[in-house]
Amino acid sequence: MNFNFSQWQYSRASRFHRPVQWFLIASFTVLLGCEQSTQAPEVIAAPDAVAHADQPWPSVGGDASEQRFSPLDKVNTGNVERLGLAWSHEFDTSRGQEATPVIVDGVLFTSTAWSKVYAFNAASGELKWSYDPEVPGETAFNACCDVVNRGVAVADGRVFVGTLDGRLIALEASSGQVLWSTITVDQDKPYTITGAPRVVRDKVLIGNGGAELGVRGYLSAYHAGSGELAWRFYTTPNPDGLPDNAASDEILASLVNETWSEGEWKTSGGGGTVWDSMAWDPDLDLLYFGVGNGTPWDHTLRSGGQGDNLFLSSIVAVRPDTGEYVWHYQTTPGENWDYTATQQIVLADIDVHGESRKVLMQAPKNGFFYVLDRTDGSLISAENYVTVTWASGIGEDGRPIEVPEARYNVTGEVALVLPSPFGGHNWHPMSYDADRGLVYIPAMEMAFPYSSEKEFGYREGQRNIGLELDILALPDDPDALQGLKDATIGKLIAWDPVARKARWSVDHPHFWNAGVLATAGGLVFQGNAEGDFVAYSADGGERLWEFEAGNGIIAAPAAFEADGRQYIAVLAGYGGAGAMIVHWELPDRPRLPGRLLVFALDGEATIDPYDTPKASEIDLVGVTTAGDAVAGLSLFHDNCLACHGASASGRYLPDLKTSSMLLTEESFRSVVLDGALADRGMVGFSDYLDKQDVESIRAYILEQARK
Ligand code: CA
Repeated sequence: MNFNFSQWQYSRASRFHRPVQWFLIASFTVLLGCEQSTQAPEVIAAPDAVAHADQPWPSVGGDASEQRFSPLDKVNTGNVERLGLAWSHEFDTSRGQEATPVIVDGVLFTSTAWSKVYAFNAASGELKWSYDPEVPGETAFNACCDVVNRGVAVADGRVFVGTLDGRLIALEASSGQVLWSTITVDQDKPYTITGAPRVVRDKVLIGNGGAELGVRGYLSAYHAGSGELAWRFYTTPNPDGLPDNAASDEILASLVNETWSEGEWKTSGGGGTVWDSMAWDPDLDLLYFGVGNGTPWDHTLRSGGQGDNLFLSSIVAVRPDTGEYVWHYQTTPGENWDYTATQQIVLADIDVHGESRKVLMQAPKNGFFYVLDRTDGSLISAENYVTVTWASGIGEDGRPIEVPEARYNVTGEVALVLPSPFGGHNWHPMSYDADRGLVYIPAMEMAFPYSSEKEFGYREGQRNIGLELDILALPDDPDALQGLKDATIGKLIAWDPVARKARWSVDHPHFWNAGVLATAGGLVFQGNAEGDFVAYSADGGERLWEFEAGNGIIAAPAAFEADGRQYIAVLAGYGGAGAMIVHWELPDRPRLPGRLLVFALDGEATIDPYDTPKASEIDLVGVTTAGDAVAGLSLFHDNCLACHGASASGRYLPDLKTSSMLLTEESFRSVVLDGALADRGMVGFSDYLDKQDVESIRAYILEQARK
């Protein structure tokens, strides 16, 4: 392993007392309509295949600019129909697979759910080694959005992975042996790591998640050789008002602290976790990272409705060697809707009105596509790429022009807002094609009824978003439910960041989307919930090729060349927040083991179809309960919804309505109160619920099961 990161190419350069809200969403969104692609595709010749030296995919984002574009064109619009499976591997977990593989020196490295790491011969698929960090099962309780991991970093013969329980581990790339392991978080707090580390020269960067439960966010840099902490940058103030002896001390004291007022943040930590995106510009020597939402979400609860609450929902630029602050841009001041700015950051040099600009692009959850000048963070343009109702635009001062009714608060009513907390775009990576000047965005359209929890009380270690969740109960009326589903869609949008409009778009019936890869072959690769891995034409979005994976895909693909042959690699394995919370996002299919699928021209490998177990059934005749189903609805939505879905409709984690533990009070209590299944992630809730609460939850699930 002699790959050196300084070689990084920067070339391109009543429970039904309020079903009305859900019904409103359906009708409201239908009224908005969906913009359809109308542009006729341009016909262009397939580019000639050009011989390349073996082409790696050295980091999850393709390179330091995170464009996720492959210059390889051996697979192109003229021959993509010959693409076939070259090799595959089935993993030992059926939870969500969100990692993009990294390919260096002919070896493909990937992580899987539960932070496990694998190394394969990239051409043959031979497994070289695997590593299991043995994350304790109960850590799953801290993970807002499944036990996922979005990839590894590889540099100078080392592989780096962040684990769900907050460790950063360095492995020897040739053997998988542990070189060092360091704990990056206070493990007594509900921190998790799901994001991929990045390497800049001799530093490994890693953030963390946990803002739905309540933590204080930060980014850390560790020495790649030793695992020693080099610097740390906090994104929210220290509740004690004291310096942290960290890289962020100066900017917190001079700018950040005064943007926070009295509120729950002093208990919760405020949020602002750095859970996914980073990018590096070696010429400017700036490291950019995206910051998440606040805890609780409601600005009035969190900070008395006062102040911008820096650096929530911001892009921050620092010096990679020291963590010294350089600039920031806040996408959503006074964040109120879970509008994180952790979405992928893409660096590119583009012509804007005849002038070459060094830009940074992001499509954060709030629905606006931002083009910033990455030298100083000034706004070049911002335009909505999905339906947005919380703001009518972004003003020349860079601040959103808010729609006052969208800012729900502790005294107000429900506000129906687009985008939803899932975002106009979530972690699913986008791809930038410099030849065409297009960004391919996996976007989502969904309305959400936000309502503040009127009697919020902070619960240590539990979800602390501060929303009234009862109103998320699904409507009984099948037509209303169908309307809701129909109004909630995913999209692949080919976005022109200069013209500030979509060139074409493709609709997906399931909103929970998948990552994207564009290549110089004129192709855009993306999987979907139904289980197809698809190649679209980059110019018009026509579906040119597809492979039936038999399992939903959410991860982004990578492209590489090995022994003169081009490959496309993607992980299949459905999961993540959308699959857990919104039951229709899991198509009619049980949860299946994840697989790594690697394709090449004339690939002739075969794969066994999935063995799909039948859904279990239970007999509820004679099953009784003394619980109160009405109280159970509230308790369920406050404690269980995030993993088991609105109205106990979830099918991603075991469907509670068909679980045999429902049959007796004792069996239900042993799991829910006493934690009989803690090692699988279902911890006991005795800190939050008593016997009577648990029986009421059982009564509610029984009622749902009998419908
Ligand atoms: Ca969040």
